[in-house]
Amino acid sequence: MISKINHIAIVVGDLDAALQAYHDTLGLPIGERKVMPQQEVEIAFLPTGDSLIELITPTTEDSGVAKYLAKRGEGLHHICLEVPDIEAALAEMLARGAQLINEAPVQAAEGRAFFLHPKGTHGVLIELLEPYPQADSE
Ligand code: ZN
Repeated sequence: MISKINHIAIVVGDLDAALQAYHDTLGLPIGERKVMPQQEVEIAFLPTGDSLIELITPTTEDSGVAKYLAKRGEGLHHICLEVPDIEAALAEMLARGAQLINEAPVQAAEGRAFFLHPKGTHGVLIELLEPYPQADSE
């Protein structure tokens, strides 16, 4: 059911500085960047072959990501696993007894998604994602 790692998300304090560092150090191209008002974050993607590194920074002081950054500092935020059918994935995870953060898929930057609680995955937030149909060139 899980087809690949879609992206690995890293929370950063300064998106411009982090993008430049990932570009300069690893030589990764700088991809799409977008503000997500509902999630109170700005994100930027660095394509890594068939997957992405997603840099994420809070745009408000009291969002979930802002609290995470304040508490834990910069670093790994979540790993995103791609699935072809988000509803089927949700039903299967519930049947397997997964601890979910949201009981229904939400609109994420890249598609429809839900999250598994880190308590059930040994400390790592896991996103399951059904991507929107690709319109851009890859
Ligand atoms: Zn994500």
